[in-house]
Amino acid sequence: MDTTLIRNDFPILHQNVNGKPLVYLDNTATTQKPQVVIDRISDYYETINSNAHRGTHTLGRIATEKLESARTTVQKFINAKEQHEIIFTKGTTEGINLVAQTFAQQFLNEGDSVLISAMEHHANIVPWQQMCKQKKANLLVIPVLETGDLDLSNIDELFSKNVKMLAVTHISNVLGTINPIELLIEKAHAKNIPVLIDAAQSVAHETIDVQKMDCDFLVFSAHKMYAPMGIGVLYGKSEWLNKLPPYQFGGEMISEVRFEESTFNELPYKFETGTPNVDGILAIETAIQYMQKIGLKQIADYEHKLLTYATEKLNEIDDIIFHGTAKNKIAVLSFNLKDVHHSDVGVILDQLGIAVRTGDHCAQPLMRILGISGTVRASFAFYNTKEEIDVFIEGVKTAKKMLQ
Ligand code: PLP
Repeated sequence: MDTTLIRNDFPILHQNVNGKPLVYLDNTATTQKPQVVIDRISDYYETINSNAHRGTHTLGRIATEKLESARTTVQKFINAKEQHEIIFTKGTTEGINLVAQTFAQQFLNEGDSVLISAMEHHANIVPWQQMCKQKKANLLVIPVLETGDLDLSNIDELFSKNVKMLAVTHISNVLGTINPIELLIEKAHAKNIPVLIDAAQSVAHETIDVQKMDCDFLVFSAHKMYAPMGIGVLYGKSEWLNKLPPYQFGGEMISEVRFEESTFNELPYKFETGTPNVDGILAIETAIQYMQKIGLKQIADYEHKLLTYATEKLNEIDDIIFHGTAKNKIAVLSFNLKDVHHSDVGVILDQLGIAVRTGDHCAQPLMRILGISGTVRASFAFYNTKEEIDVFIEGVKTAKKMLQ
């Protein structure tokens, strides 16, 4: 991989922040966009912009064709069986809300349970928690070990508690842990329990094959895979999507409307209410093609090298406390400096042009389990370099000197 060439594709990386060259290490929060993705969006507005699936004029037809072709690209990218199993959403959060609300409406009853894990993002906790409250169901939690691995010692007992849905993250946005989802899906399916996978953190780092995984639902956000914000994907097996009621009502999702009664459209449109984010959808296609050109395997291998290098270097600093040391993890490093508040480290790094995330990372329950209020989190993408990691390490050393 030629990182110099790759970095040239990302205009945002070539700037000074606070007088220093930007070192962007907040890729878990959102990734930067290559020029081809930016161009795809402007090209759409310069040459195509029209509402898709409406009317017969030429530009409208082109917008529709391009949108549906992008859907096929996404389908192939995650190896879904059918094109209509790809639903465009606003992002991971909306995808989970869609499934939680429609599934609960149809299938969750008093005394049932929904099983999640202790390392979920709030987006995969609160929607289920609220549905459980409404339906007088229980929210059960797979515990987490100090290493950042899931504690599966009591998993069979948990599954025996009238579980109606397992909703679990593929990769933790705090700990970087890659969870053994194939094993969990197998165990859930042995009891006829459907599984939703939160792939927000895996889609840009791991090859996703929904048929091999055999998950029933999978959600992700485009902005975490080099595409824009406000657009994402819900994958669902046809048989499940067909069983769920519509999520929102209005244009596009209907078949026929009378004042007395309406009938609903077929998949995927039943779940795509209103004007779609066509430019965002086209940009996802371009981002996928961009990642595929580099190679998902090459990306994963390179990012893993960065993780190993950064972990070794950070380990050389006294008083570093790592959070998340699972063997199987992606390039996310969460840590604290002994007796130092995480946000103070973040402020000093920012002054040095280094962008990291500090705080609870939308995982307050996990923070409580770890007994901390937050962490400093550095997360790497394929455009990051060893030289940037050296700058980051020097930044942490400076913060330590100033704050301890
Ligand atoms: N799930 C995980 C694991 C995440 O990391 C995030 C965002 O950080 C989300 C869900 C929510 O994603 P979005 O805000 O794009 O909907």
